[in-house]
Amino acid sequence: MSKLTGKTAIVTGATSGIGRATALLFAEEGASLVLTGRRRERGKAVEAECRQRGARAVFVEADHTQSADCVRVVTSALREFHQIDILFNNAGIVTQGTAESASEADWAATLALNVTAVWRMCRLVIPEMRKVGGGVIVNNASDWAVVGGKGALPYAASKGAVASMTKSMALDHAHENIRVNAVCPGDTFVERWLEKGYFEGSSPVTLEAAQAESAAYLPMKRFGRPEEIARAVLFLASEDSSFVTGHLLLVDGGNTAQ
Ligand code: NAD
Repeated sequence: MSKLTGKTAIVTGATSGIGRATALLFAEEGASLVLTGRRRERGKAVEAECRQRGARAVFVEADHTQSADCVRVVTSALREFHQIDILFNNAGIVTQGTAESASEADWAATLALNVTAVWRMCRLVIPEMRKVGGGVIVNNASDWAVVGGKGALPYAASKGAVASMTKSMALDHAHENIRVNAVCPGDTFVERWLEKGYFEGSSPVTLEAAQAESAAYLPMKRFGRPEEIARAVLFLASEDSSFVTGHLLLVDGGNTAQ
């Protein structure tokens, strides 16, 4: 029996990176999937990849900064699969800047997606989870949720908020058999780095160049892979972690142990 057989999972921001890798792993583990994101072509491609793995999967085009889109994701999930057991709040953006240099626009955009959309999706799915006797929420935070993030104040602030929301929601809903945890990835090489660089608007970089330039500070001297983060998300989403709630699971190659 696979780990997510009979479960319905929503994966936000499933069109690339950690979201896509998690969607594919969840598909292999028997989940029915609602995949979201703004890029239709990529979303349909991931939907097809999930179906090739034997899963039922639907892509719902959605911008999670828009309340109506979040509602549409949840109503689509209920229409297709009649219940919601797992929510992976993964969609997120990375922005640069210190207290002085961060722009108002970046601050607002980062908080709108990385914080407000997480709350919004939780608010919508918790009543549905209650109806089926429980559920699991996994939020994608960051190692910068637990240590400072140099030169990325809006992003670090947003991920700190995700950590705090994770613990608070875990306490609020533990008695309803709704577990809430966060995965906290360290630097993980995703397609975005090839397209846009580490941050929105920085220069594209290959894995080799990125590691040569900036992995030396990491204990394992390499960046993570999306599949490595996905396996941690699967642990938190499955019964393997049945007594784990309010936890921030660092998957950072030892970075924050230093
Ligand atoms: P990514 O850019 O590949 O993934 C982000 C996903 O969110 C994409 O599918 C993107 O299309 C989607 N998205 C962005 N804005 C959206 C919006 N308004 N509405 C809906 N979807 C939207 O990068 P990733 O690294 O896989 O990021 C996934 C999550 O992992 C993010 O929350 C990020 O903060 C977190 N994270 C990544 C790293 C890393 O090093 N890659 C480290 C720590 C945490």
